[in-house]
Amino acid sequence: MSTFQDLGLNKDLLQAITDLGFEKPSEVQEKAVPILLNSETDLVALAQTGTGKTAAFGFPMLQKIDVDSRTTQGLILSPTRELCLQITNEMKLYGKYCKGLNVVAVYGGASITEQAREIKRGAQIIVATPGRMKDMISRRLVDITKIEYAVLDEADEMLNMGFKEDITSILSHTPDDKSTWLFSATMPREVAAIAKNFMYNPQEITVGRKNESTSQVSHEYYLVNARDRYQALKRLADANPDIFSVIFCRTKRDTQKVAERLIEDGYSAGALHGDLSQNQRDLVMKSFRNKQIQMLVATDVAARGIDVDDITHVINYQLPDEIETYTHRSGRTGRAGKTGVSMVIVSKSEVRKIKSIERIIKKQFEKKDIPNGMEICEVQLMSLAKKVHHTDVNHDIDAYLGDINALFEDTSKDELIKKFFSVEFSRFYNYYQKALDLNISTSNDDHKDSGNSVRYFINVGKKDGFDWMSLKDFLKEVLELGQDDVFKVEAKDTFSFFNTEKGLQEKVLGFFNDFKYNGRFVNVEISENRGRGRKRDRNRGKRRDDRKGSFNSGKKGGRRSEGASKSRRSKSGDIASSRPRRSRR
Ligand code: ADP
Ligand code: MG
Repeated sequence: MSTFQDLGLNKDLLQAITDLGFEKPSEVQEKAVPILLNSETDLVALAQTGTGKTAAFGFPMLQKIDVDSRTTQGLILSPTRELCLQITNEMKLYGKYCKGLNVVAVYGGASITEQAREIKRGAQIIVATPGRMKDMISRRLVDITKIEYAVLDEADEMLNMGFKEDITSILSHTPDDKSTWLFSATMPREVAAIAKNFMYNPQEITVGRKNESTSQVSHEYYLVNARDRYQALKRLADANPDIFSVIFCRTKRDTQKVAERLIEDGYSAGALHGDLSQNQRDLVMKSFRNKQIQMLVATDVAARGIDVDDITHVINYQLPDEIETYTHRSGRTGRAGKTGVSMVIVSKSEVRKIKSIERIIKKQFEKKDIPNGMEICEVQLMSLAKKVHHTDVNHDIDAYLGDINALFEDTSKDELIKKFFSVEFSRFYNYYQKALDLNISTSNDDHKDSGNSVRYFINVGKKDGFDWMSLKDFLKEVLELGQDDVFKVEAKDTFSFFNTEKGLQEKVLGFFNDFKYNGRFVNVEISENRGRGRKRDRNRGKRRDDRKGSFNSGKKGGRRSEGASKSRRSKSGDIASSRPRRSRR
């Protein structure tokens, strides 16, 4: 095991490292730093989140640049503003004894002229998000034609976020003989392509699974009905009173909604997603770091690079679209030698994804049950008892003790304890005493249905680029509905089906009365088939079809069954054309 000295770092950096309290290099630092210090080479480094990648490229870059020159020599591209600021901050800390060093962060949403001014003062290193960087290049506010080192940090994530073209364009403004260092947690095809097309004979290092942070994370999943997701989340939180967690949702809307519901329900929660202003995001992150927020509900993009060490739980409220993203999520916990739990709430339709994830992370998930009400009451009660036991007495209450003692004069210690704990216990008890079992078994193939839902037909499907997940997101988005309000979404080629609770029927039909998607009217009608019992329905559908008028009138509440919709479509070709067109106000 080597020391930072062994890696060949200079005195200024070693001093800063001592100040930071880093005792020994992490594995990726141990491998990357000597290579980058001692040769001018391209490098591909694969290492999980939290393994110290910033210093792995930061130390060599700081040692190699000429701080006496004002020329921009190093460019670090990173996917998000948060990460960009974090790297800039980290680089400044590492380089605090490098006299004359100027590191500038360039990212969207802040004044471009101010950033340009900072660069003009002479920035040897620029840390940038691709979008803003491209913008600055095209406005000639920055000169990267002389850079010697280009870092693509979190390359997989940058490509995930669609920055490929921006990166290509940015790199085309840099000299051919620079060194390119690519850092990534995973190596999907797109990253390999970048390495192939933009790098010359790169050396490769991989930091295996032995890295401390991920081996400290255990993985659990909980199988519930999609509509019980939120209740399940609450129970997981209640069963872990000291939880300090990041909860991942797939969309900004869900992120916001889940956070709002949690807050309404009395949890210390906050939302972090791209629709918030920077100021709002900074505030949320500040409260989270200070532990004023126990549950941070976040999108993958916004949570990227969050560097908070004590996260006890990562909760996958919904699984990510890309399985690789799961690695990033679970890497938020179990950092800095601590243990962590990554929990996944899945519905039956997603449960097969767990297997795919297991293959990728090479670890087993434990299937666990959502705690029942009584279990939660017990946990809460014991947690309170321990808290009381450990509490330091506040002597400012001494003055009132006389009155309090008088009040309990005739109460025994036993009785007093019972009463005291009942105060807290009853709160949970009352809430949970009638709580249902949220767990469902994998064997039962039928979705539970309250019998209170409506099934709709909609004339968009896979041909319009939807799969069931994106259609569900789309419906929730346009209808402004909550995460589990739309369910049993089934995308066919040119049409699809979905369910909502009956109470939403009017809203859904009303909304789609005159709604256009890609220039085409979207037609939503009630499908007679509430569940998925095809056979029976097909016959009924045919009968309906004969009496065309009933659903061809374009009025709300027209009926169509799953079986009928098929034959209907083949007759008229274009479902949308059969309804009156009205323009949207
Ligand atoms: P990554 O980019 O791989 O996700 P970071 O570079 O953000 O990881 O590092 C994660 C955390 O570990 C940061 O807080 C960083 O300051 C700290 N760190 C980095 N290297 C070391 C080290 N050698 N010893 C202790 N802490 C370190
Ligand atoms: Mg990093």
